[in-house]
Amino acid sequence: EGELPRPGRRRVLTVANQKGGVGKTTSTVNLAAALALHGLKTLVVDLDPQGNASTALDVDHRSGTPSIYEVLIGEVTLADAAQPTEQSPNLFCVPATIDLAGAEIELVSMASRESRLKEAISSEILNEIGVDYVFIDCPPSLGLLTVNAMVAAQEVLIPIQCEYYALEGLGQLLSNIELVQQHLNRELHVSTILLTMYDGRTKLADQVTNEVRNHFGDTVLKTVIPRSVKVSEAPGYGQTVLAYDPGSRGAMSYVDAAKEIAERGAQLERGSTP
Ligand code: ADP
Ligand code: MG
Repeated sequence: EGELPRPGRRRVLTVANQKGGVGKTTSTVNLAAALALHGLKTLVVDLDPQGNASTALDVDHRSGTPSIYEVLIGEVTLADAAQPTEQSPNLFCVPATIDLAGAEIELVSMASRESRLKEAISSEILNEIGVDYVFIDCPPSLGLLTVNAMVAAQEVLIPIQCEYYALEGLGQLLSNIELVQQHLNRELHVSTILLTMYDGRTKLADQVTNEVRNHFGDTVLKTVIPRSVKVSEAPGYGQTVLAYDPGSRGAMSYVDAAKEIAERGAQLERGSTP
């Protein structure tokens, strides 16, 4: 497949929504795989103690494996914790082990507790490896781990499930983003909203889609991810849907969404509006 534009500067996207089950992890691994398969070196950082992104990418994440936990407490570098994946030679993952479950509390008493991930990500080593994209998969909460992700990123990607109550709780997420923007990371902004689990057979899905588009305008990707059994089956095989069933609607929609993300970035770099 064709190449996508390489960003002039590494893009770091935090995938956040404090609601669970909205498609954060699914979107993280599939968007990252799509970019990697189109020639862009991409790193997934699993920041959820449940380790779902690590499972989906089939990387070792037993307790004791060098993981994002050891990175946050300063024992290993991000590059040392990064593992290659079977999905693409361009796709790497820093896994999360169950050890991360205690980090939310351990971090409280640590120096520069909000910016430990940022320090790890902005290290020279990532420049040397030439990573184009970093996706940070957040836990379903707005605690210190998610704050670390927001401080480390330039962009927030919010997946929104096309369901009842889709917008509920978003206000809280947006005001947290604003707080981080004001106090810790002036560059942070919501660059991308991705509608997930769209079921075209229901009127509700269209209502939610319209509501989100009215509210967020061009931030919402044109591509909508359909609800698809293939998408939900893939992680059980340690695969992204792009590897599991490349021709499926789910796989193709994640490729389209990744293209939009890459092309918008390139347009912004050229100084025009998308
Ligand atoms: P989160 O990380 O926000 O908690 P997940 O990405 O783990 O959400 O998704 C929640 C559940 O929904 C998972 O079981 C996942 O396989 C399933 N899922 C996600 N996206 C889709 C989709 N497009 N179609 C069908 N199932 C999906
Ligand atoms: Mg998740």
